[in-house]
Amino acid sequence: MDYKQYVANVPDFPEPGVLFRDISPLMANGPVYSAATDEIADYAQKLGTEMIVGPEARGFIVGCPVAYKLGVGFSPARKKGKLPRETVSVTYDLEYGQASLYMQKDAVQPGQKVLVVDDLMATGGTLAATIKLVEELGGIVVGTAFLIELTDLHGRDKIKGYDMFTLMQY
Ligand code: 5GP
Repeated sequence: MDYKQYVANVPDFPEPGVLFRDISPLMANGPVYSAATDEIADYAQKLGTEMIVGPEARGFIVGCPVAYKLGVGFSPARKKGKLPRETVSVTYDLEYGQASLYMQKDAVQPGQKVLVVDDLMATGGTLAATIKLVEELGGIVVGTAFLIELTDLHGRDKIKGYDMFTLMQY
């Protein structure tokens, strides 16, 4: 499947000089969204995935249908102030400034095999932070999966040693 024809390339969003890869057309097309979900689910199944974890917000869009297909759970990594019970957190660097992600303490069970998913990997900062949270909770990250990898930003260098599956590379 040529998924790239379902990605809208938006210049200067969210700021001048950035070419934003908008996955909305892919998600809005039932058969294409299903095909992408199926490919990630096949990958997840081969790894023996027991739990899917995805960061807010597009990680939910990619991860939840995969969890449903496998019949496993989904736990979110969320931004500040969203989770009502006890959390673990990680702060990481963005191009300008910092961001934090949180997970609830019982979101992953010790020893559980976790697949971390998101829509897109750029610098790898979000992925590295999500992996850190899962591991702090005792989960075993068996793999990572994205729709899109921006290879110029060398996100893979941040997360050496983890298996990765991507449907598109730019
Ligand atoms: P990173 O932390 O790897 O630098 O950035 C990845 C995160 O930013 C992901 O959660 C992703 O949703 C978001 N992101 C950054 N650039 C883009 C983009 O061009 N398109 C989309 N869909 N998401 C992006």
